[in-house]
Amino acid sequence: MTNQTPGYPHLLAPLDLGFTTLRNRVIMGSMHTGLEDRFYNYGKLAAFYRERARGGVGLIVTGGISPNRSGWLLPFGGTLNFAGDVFNHRRVTGAVHEEGGKILMQILHAGRYGYQPLVVSASAKKSPISPFKPRALTAAGIEATIRDYARCATLAKQAGYDGIEVMGSEGYLLNQFLCARTNLRTDRWGGTIENRMRLPVDIVTRIRAAVGPDFIIMYRHSLLDLVDGGNTWDDVVAVAQALQRAGVNILNTGYGWHEARVPTIVTSVPRGAFASVAGRLRREVTIPVVASNRINMPHEAEDILARGDADMVSMARPFLADAHFVAKAAAGRADEINTCIGCNQACLDHTFSNQRASCLVNPRACHETELVYAISARPRRVAVVGAGPAGLSAATVAAECGHDVTLFDSSDSVGGQFKIAMQIPGKEEFAETIRYFRRKIDLVGVKLKLGVRVTREQLLAEGYDDVAIATGIKVRRPPIPGIDHRSVLSYIDVLQNKAPVGRRVAIIGAGGIGFDVGEFLLHDPRHALPLALETWTAEWGVDLKARGGGGLVPAQAPQPVRQLYLLQRKTSKLGAGLGKTSGWVHRATLARNGVVMMAGVQYDSIDDQGLHITVGGERRLLAVDNIIVCAGQDSLTELMPAGEPANGGPRFHKIGGAALAAELDAKRAIKEGAQWAVGL
Ligand code: FAD
Ligand code: NAP
Ligand code: SF4
Repeated sequence: MTNQTPGYPHLLAPLDLGFTTLRNRVIMGSMHTGLEDRFYNYGKLAAFYRERARGGVGLIVTGGISPNRSGWLLPFGGTLNFAGDVFNHRRVTGAVHEEGGKILMQILHAGRYGYQPLVVSASAKKSPISPFKPRALTAAGIEATIRDYARCATLAKQAGYDGIEVMGSEGYLLNQFLCARTNLRTDRWGGTIENRMRLPVDIVTRIRAAVGPDFIIMYRHSLLDLVDGGNTWDDVVAVAQALQRAGVNILNTGYGWHEARVPTIVTSVPRGAFASVAGRLRREVTIPVVASNRINMPHEAEDILARGDADMVSMARPFLADAHFVAKAAAGRADEINTCIGCNQACLDHTFSNQRASCLVNPRACHETELVYAISARPRRVAVVGAGPAGLSAATVAAECGHDVTLFDSSDSVGGQFKIAMQIPGKEEFAETIRYFRRKIDLVGVKLKLGVRVTREQLLAEGYDDVAIATGIKVRRPPIPGIDHRSVLSYIDVLQNKAPVGRRVAIIGAGGIGFDVGEFLLHDPRHALPLALETWTAEWGVDLKARGGGGLVPAQAPQPVRQLYLLQRKTSKLGAGLGKTSGWVHRATLARNGVVMMAGVQYDSIDDQGLHITVGGERRLLAVDNIIVCAGQDSLTELMPAGEPANGGPRFHKIGGAALAAELDAKRAIKEGAQWAVGL
């Protein structure tokens, strides 16, 4: 998928703002890492941003910092409202400036999205994603909020930031004032768009008055709300023009409220899906406009700028995946970029479960001071068996740390189960991770031996100091009477070996792989993968021209290509264990296509009639053509020695699926591989 064309003239061009110049057109968008909420983590936060500034990004935006307590996303979240806080922030700005970078602090007031009891909003209307009902701000409360924003920006200036970003999208407080969905007021802050935009515009005006002209004000504006009661395109343009008049220097763009039922950043959203919307806005204002969402490679960013859809490009998660994204692009080494695959597993899923953010493909993200890939004083001879995510990570990090590494795999290419995962519609990006590791193997000098089914004797004979067993898993075959019937297939048969599958199918097991197999079988072969933008917008009911409010239109009626039953023994909701921020997308896709999801199933037998089950005490027959087993896996550990190796033999270690198959995912596999290599 990677475009190898060297040179990104638009992306790497400086941007002159009059009083300051940005070194290129790349913004690292705001991400809440979890480090900004506690003063004792600011050293780690500074190291995180320092590495990104060193990697060449033009402008960094911090995670959201609240201007007051009622704006907290979480209790005691990062706040900048008194002079004593400035000291912590100076560590961050100092680190970025030492590396030649520029940084804005994002001011985020969560409004009714706050997960805490002090929440306020335009009106007392609870959001579906927080249990706390907000209090409607009084006129005096609104005035105090404006003052808090201006004070917060002034303190940010004192802390050495090059400017601030005012968060006005994603359904947070200012978006709540902007839209009739949440603004039911009848005073001068509600009703017409002129009244609804008064709060964001007054905030920008007061910030500009407080900080003077030589300080960047970027505003993140919601171009498509993707909720009922969202703004029309005319409203969006009117607000943007008013913000420009109030003193905004750069307009960043946002798509979809957090409560929207349209995905906007997960892997299945086509790359650059929303860039044309930023392009339309760019024709309505004269200040620079930023494109954002699902832009993860430099050639895409370059194309967006070259065709005039934006003046700058914002990428957030791609900078968790690779701090040196810009430097690699500038040096013509885009094929070395560790690409964000849009999985959300270690970033947003962590944030929403109150853990520190990191990255599935780069476990160093937000752990720069803790997971250090330094040259070892004791280089060792190392064998890694298995070139799946765990083995690839272990081998490349070990070689980067100066060890002499041989990596074996019995197949003819690297990637392990990621080669199967990338067959799933919407997971095509997983191919980028394989591409990254394959390139890294050459760069760090790992000796790669493919097509070799390693034996224990071979490992013992070849004089290694350390052996990592990263052989992954074997699929579980549940002992159901009739499991050997010809209608029964494993997910490997279907996804890897492309076994023919009939029109009526039962899937045994509703974990991540059961859901993925469901999506694979529902894919209409008339649509090429990855899905074209028009197919995706029709499927989710998105109108990129935002002719009606919020950019929503009726979704196209699905025409399922198969009748599917997705089954599990547990009585809990199907898909409960899927990612917090992506699971709903998978559930919605399957539900829309009429998949029958059944919990509390007992599998009785399989025969020529189909699958016999008992549910709720009642026996049933699912008359299906095929039964596909997605019932989990067990570790493949046949290479591990039975006891301690003889004196002088290598130390054996298990990592990834070989260590523990239960609740295995690539996040754990890659992290374990890196941690093992660093600990050698
Ligand atoms: P594996 O990937 O299984 O790699 C093991 C490697 O060892 C294989 O290449 C194998 O050929 C090799 N090997 C085995 N025995 C030998 C031997 N004796 N000699 C030489 N080589 C040997 N995870 C996520 O985090 N997110 C997802 O969205 C996701 N989606 C998935 C979708 C599907 C359809 C599938 C199948 C998996 C998905 N996963 C996902 C799971 C993820 O792929 C695994 O958790 C991960 O691959 C485990 O990594 P591993 O290195 O431990 O094992
Ligand atoms: P899994 O999530 O553990 O699910 C296994 C399923 O099989 C469960 O639904 C389980 O439900 C069922 N099962 C287990 N033992 C069974 C038995 N003996 N008989 C019948 N059913 C049985 O495993 P997976 O779906 O194979 O996925 C493997 C790993 O890949 C997961 O840990 C996951 O993290 C990762 N993955 C992640 C994603 C993602 O989108 N993040 C996608 C795919 C895979 P019951 O026991 O209730 O029947
Ligand atoms: Fe991207 Fe996944 Fe890493 Fe998040 S965890 S930055 S989505 S690759």
